[in-house]
Amino acid sequence: MRIVLLGPPGAGKGTQAKRIVSEYNVPHLSTGDMLRAAVLAETCIGLKVRETMESGQLVPDTLVLAAVIERISQSDSQRGFVLDGFPRTMSQATAFDDLLVTEGLELDHVIELHVDENVLLDRILTRARETKEGGGLVRPDDNYETMKVRLDAYNRQTAPLVDYYRSKSL
Ligand code: ADP
Repeated sequence: MRIVLLGPPGAGKGTQAKRIVSEYNVPHLSTGDMLRAAVLAETCIGLKVRETMESGQLVPDTLVLAAVIERISQSDSQRGFVLDGFPRTMSQATAFDDLLVTEGLELDHVIELHVDENVLLDRILTRARETKEGGGLVRPDDNYETMKVRLDAYNRQTAPLVDYYRSKSL
């Protein structure tokens, strides 16, 4: 089963991805998690993307693509995968199509999670407040100003993918 989850920040892509992967026994591939791990480990990619991620903007397509290609070639991804947070731009979507064709693979479903913007803002700010109160580590991009940038990036760069995949009957 190969599924792509589309949805703005706070829509619940991570939560739904976890439920789907446990149902189908496939890996959960979250580009946000991959990039955050790279930042934490201070890898070459991590050092390059840290500031961009903290600003709420999208990191360069080539860096994300490299990470996805690497991850999809691993043995557990041969069973399928749930992609969470990728593709996020038209150019990532077309590059991903090329990759699928090269590998002889097809997507089964693309699922859009649609949530009102005020609810998204409220969820993210509540998550940040509760994490802070619980002594946890708050994501540096979970604040009002950066959420606005993330929502804007979603509306401008990612939302067009809904029609793109719809036109492919996915
Ligand atoms: P959210 O959906 O809440 O914004 P993610 O964990 O998916 O959270 O992404 C966090 C950040 O990681 C994004 O704001 C962006 O900077 C970077 N990122 C994740 N996936 C991609 C991608 N496919 N292309 C470009 N940047 C990405």
